[in-house]
Formats: sequence, structure tokens, C-alpha cells
Amino acid sequence: MIPPGSTIGILGGGQLGRMLAMAAARLGYKCHIYSPEKDSVAAEVSAKFTCAEWYDREALTAFASDCAVVTYEFENVPVAPLAMIPAELLAPGTKALEIAQDRLREKRFVEELGGHCAPYAAIDADPDLVPAIERVGTPGILKTRRDGYDGKGQWRIAGAREAEGVRVPNDGLIYEGLVRFEAEFSVILVRGRDGGVKFWDSPRNVHEGGILMHSTLPAPEAAQVHVPAARWLARAAAQSLNYVGVLTLEFFATPQGPLFNEMAPRVHNSGHWTIEGAVTSQFENHIRAICGLPLGDTALIAPRVEMHNLIGDVAAQEQAILGDPRAHLHRYGKAEAREGRKMGHVTKIG
Ligand code: AMP
Repeated sequence: MIPPGSTIGILGGGQLGRMLAMAAARLGYKCHIYSPEKDSVAAEVSAKFTCAEWYDREALTAFASDCAVVTYEFENVPVAPLAMIPAELLAPGTKALEIAQDRLREKRFVEELGGHCAPYAAIDADPDLVPAIERVGTPGILKTRRDGYDGKGQWRIAGAREAEGVRVPNDGLIYEGLVRFEAEFSVILVRGRDGGVKFWDSPRNVHEGGILMHSTLPAPEAAQVHVPAARWLARAAAQSLNYVGVLTLEFFATPQGPLFNEMAPRVHNSGHWTIEGAVTSQFENHIRAICGLPLGDTALIAPRVEMHNLIGDVAAQEQAILGDPRAHLHRYGKAEAREGRKMGHVTKIG
């Protein structure tokens, strides 16, 4: 067990780090944020901040020497320089990061465990592009294998010829058939150092333009029927990675069963509702897990919970939210409200 008063290192400086640091503070820990970006909303609520590049090995070594455990709030941290951090300090380990950073590896990993994905084809070079799209069929979505998030690095394709002239990046692309799902849902679990696993209730997630708009509980029946199979897969993934902390898997609910979409080796936007909507939040249980504390109860505390993201210029919306006594407003403290930027969220209970 990592004693209270110790320092938890967090790689990444965004809102997930901010909410982790706030949960850590309640349990008596200090946080040290490491991020290449100087404006860090996580650093604002943390004891220490190292602003340095991911490849700055000296800075990473000094950071690690200050921390009792190191975790991530961002899954695109380059894995190679993390060799500067003793492996036993990292929770979860780097294998989960390596897999989640690459859409192709992620799909193969899940298929080896017995899961199913949307039909897809890997594209390594320009000449593979049109044949891959023709093989899988249209409509579909072309995605970068690496570094995509919130709908970035994705293009909808209605016909194979639309992709003519697209240059395949060095890391490759993946083409997926468009799934006509009944709902999207996520499985959010926490695995402790002793291997014990707890699941939160699965929310229904609604995305627009690749960005999560809202998560609601309970999920509709069309999603709930697939939760046991999806949980089985998520547990198998966590076990196979010897994972410690919160792990999220996103699924499409289809009449043929749950189709795996993607995995996040961290706390997840579709779990923000757990702060007020569950006995223990995803943030607190992540801190408990990595520090070797007993895990808290994940039960839902109300028959209905909903979380809406606040995206872009939300000043007017925030005023209305503050006027609703049932609403819990979370501001991430970001100075500039750019289009598509997550500025905060609101949770309503009951
Ligand atoms: P991703 O970044 O892969 O999670 O994609 C973001 C969102 O785009 C998903 O949550 C879905 O709403 C949508 N999407 C991605 N891939 C597909 C697909 N193959 N079929 C249908 N919708 C998809």
C-alpha cells in the first residue's frame, strides 16, 4: 500500500488528470503532473508540475524519482521514453498503452481474446487503400491507426473512389465498415493490485462527429442485453494485461452482439457521471487501485443519471445549469473555448 502523503505522478495534464488529482487529494495524496503543454488544468490543482517534452529523459527520470507510483491520464504518451521510469512504478503498465495507441493492435488483441469488431482492413501503403475499401464495402470510416481522438483522424467514405489520392501516413490507416448500431455503450472497470475487478453500470453513449455528447443510465435494453458479454471481454483484457486501475472498453450494440470499438487504458469521459452517480467514482477507484487500497463500491446511487459534455463556447449554457438545483456543474478551467473543445460537463441525478 502506498501511504497517504506520498506523491502520485500523472502523465498528461488535461481534465482527466485534474479530476484524478482532486480524488487523490481527498485520499491524502499529492500529485505531480508531467506534461509538455504549459497550460495544464491538472497542474492547477496539483502539488507539482514538470513541464517538459515526452522525450526529455532527464526530466522523466527526475519526475519518477519524486513519485511513489506513476499513472496516465492520456493514452498517447510515447512509450519508448517511459523506459526511464522503473516498470514497478507504472500503473497500469506500458503494454496497455502500446495496444491502445494502435487501432490495429487493439482490434487484434480483442479478437484473440474472443471479441468481435466491425469488419475492417489494415492499410499500410497507398496501393492498399482502394482494394481495402472495396473488400470491406461502403459506407465506412477511414481512421488513422495512431493519434486519433474525438473524431480527429477519421473520414467517412461513401464510395471507394472518394479515397483515391489519399496519402497513407507512415503509421498506416484502418478502414472500418459503418456499423448500424442500436446504441453505443461502454464497460468501465477497475482492477486492483490483487486482481479483483469491479464494474460500474454501463452507460449509453451518444457521439456526434466522433465526440461524446452525453452518457445516460440506465442504458436501453438493446445495450443492456450485451453488457454481460462485453464485461466478459473487458475482464479478459484486464487480466491478460495484468492491468491495475480503471480500464474502459467502448462497444456498439448490434442485433448480432456487442462489437468492440476501442479501449482506453485510463479513466474515461463516459465515466464522469460516477463522481455523483456512483458510490465511488472512477477517479477515486483508479487512485485506490494504483495505491493498493481496497476498492470502493461501484453501485449506481439513483435510478437515472445523465452526463452531458460542455463543448466549445458554453458560457450561456453554464448559467442555465447553475440555475438548476439538480445539476452538478464541472468546469475544467480551460482559458480558451475553442470549437470542439471539452470545457466541462454537467451531471444530473434522478
Ligand atoms: P472512435 O474514435 O473510433 O471511438 O469513433 C468515434 C465515434 O465515431 C464512435 O463512438 C461512433 O459514434 C463513430 N464510429 C466510429 N467507428 C464507427 C463504425 N465503424 N461504425 C459506426 N460508427 C462509428
